[in-house]
Amino acid sequence: MALDDPHVIDRLQTKLLIDGQWVDGVAGTTIAVENPYDGSKIADVAEATAADVDLAVAAAQRAFPAWRALAGHERGRLLLKLADAIEADAANLARLESLDTGHPIRDCLSLDVPRTALCFRYFGGMADKIEGSVIPVDAGFLNYVEREPIGVVGAIVPWNFPLMFTSWKMGPALAAGNTVVIKPSEITPLSTLRIGELMLEVGIPAGVVNIVTGYGHTVGQRIAEHPQVGKVAFTGSTATGRKIVEASAGNLKKVQLELGGKGPNIIFADANIPAAIGGSAFAIFHNQGQACIAGSRLIVHESVVDQVLEQFVALTKSIKLGDPLDPETEMGPLTSRLHQQRVLDYVAVAKAQGAQVLAGGEAPEGAAFAKGCFVEPTIVRAKPGDRVATEEVFGPFVTVLTFKTDEEALAIANETDYGLGAGLWTQDITRAHRFAKQIHAGMVWVNCYKRVHPASPFGGVGMSGYGREMGFEAMREYTQAKSVWINVDAKIPPFYRR
Ligand code: NDP
Repeated sequence: MALDDPHVIDRLQTKLLIDGQWVDGVAGTTIAVENPYDGSKIADVAEATAADVDLAVAAAQRAFPAWRALAGHERGRLLLKLADAIEADAANLARLESLDTGHPIRDCLSLDVPRTALCFRYFGGMADKIEGSVIPVDAGFLNYVEREPIGVVGAIVPWNFPLMFTSWKMGPALAAGNTVVIKPSEITPLSTLRIGELMLEVGIPAGVVNIVTGYGHTVGQRIAEHPQVGKVAFTGSTATGRKIVEASAGNLKKVQLELGGKGPNIIFADANIPAAIGGSAFAIFHNQGQACIAGSRLIVHESVVDQVLEQFVALTKSIKLGDPLDPETEMGPLTSRLHQQRVLDYVAVAKAQGAQVLAGGEAPEGAAFAKGCFVEPTIVRAKPGDRVATEEVFGPFVTVLTFKTDEEALAIANETDYGLGAGLWTQDITRAHRFAKQIHAGMVWVNCYKRVHPASPFGGVGMSGYGREMGFEAMREYTQAKSVWINVDAKIPPFYRR
């Protein structure tokens, strides 16, 4: 697909979207957004503060009664129109996302943008299918349960998949009849702003979606603590997730957390090795490893580890790093300088604990990489218990561990407090089911990795958070149950006798 408009940035709204208007922040300050490939400034976006969050929440509250009252199919129609608009704008959205995050443009075009459209389309179709239930209770009573929207939903999304995560939160929230105040990461706000433009274009009413670009400790914090926000949906680090839970306590708002992971990706001796190697490279290196579900622990049976590593190292060394806007580029820079350093620091941690670096481990050399936040795709052979075997690195950094028995593989897989995604490569269907049951994770992929679909629940257990995005599960998360009792013919026993 051709890139439509190289000047898409020049036309992009960079203000806050509050009550259907693009406005400056109350403080009048801006945040510079940088291109992680060359360090150049892409745009200055308005900096929201707590006062802007208050205005955005008030607008969302005003918009809520009418949005909620709209027939489900009408809300759905607008989300379906939005999905169409995203597809029509795919080239621009992909370009924005690539410039802002460093994702290779080919991934933005083939994954991020289509998945975003699909998500809005799925939840557009869901909007008129939110059913309650009738509960069999005592004779003479009718008890039915309705699913009602919560009210104003606060959505806080991180910098690793800003476009997709915007749809994961807004799709179900809006379909269910909630209104939204969303904070993209200040590092990567551009694609969310473009979605805001498209939402206004397709006719989503003023105030239904409000976008506040600002910092986590101010804007994110205010959303989490705001007394009129009924739910906060957050994707990000476990440490920030904890802060959000604390901040939310004031009005006991509903909290949904999609946090970190340390995905175990197990290659058994009977695996289809070429498939396992290709799938495992995707599991860790897609999006430069900046994914909560990344398969960041490659756990390999010792009888095949030499064969696996020989091929896996060769494949890793052949990954083409470069300008994210080059359609040939397979891996771009990390999304920020701070994060690049964080990942490189983990290489030092690994070496200090005696781990062996089998590939990468450095920022690549050469003029093409001089200004970018690059880290070479890195393979480290470590031992269970090492920091790089338990802590989330969140970069193109995979830790290789080995096992002898299935029991040992399971113990290693379940060694961390995280429990998000896990991969199994085996031809033995019995073993696959057994592990799928026993592994501490919210999602398990067998002979594949990182499959996601808007119909399939996504989320974790343990320190990976709680609540589920996507599918019918998401509709439960973005609604609340109301139980109604009707006395149709009940002989109520006289509890109070006079
Ligand atoms: P954070 O969790 O700090 O950031 C995620 C989002 O939360 C951002 O929008 C951020 O805003 C916001 N935020 C930060 N502080 C608060 C707060 N007090 N209240 C409400 N919102 C807040 O992640 P980092 O960017 O610092 O990345 C650190 C690590 O987190 C990574 O190395 C990775 O391990 C993990 N991570 C996991 C993600 C996932 O997909 N599960 C996504 C991103 C990070 P701001 O950008 O302004 O700080």
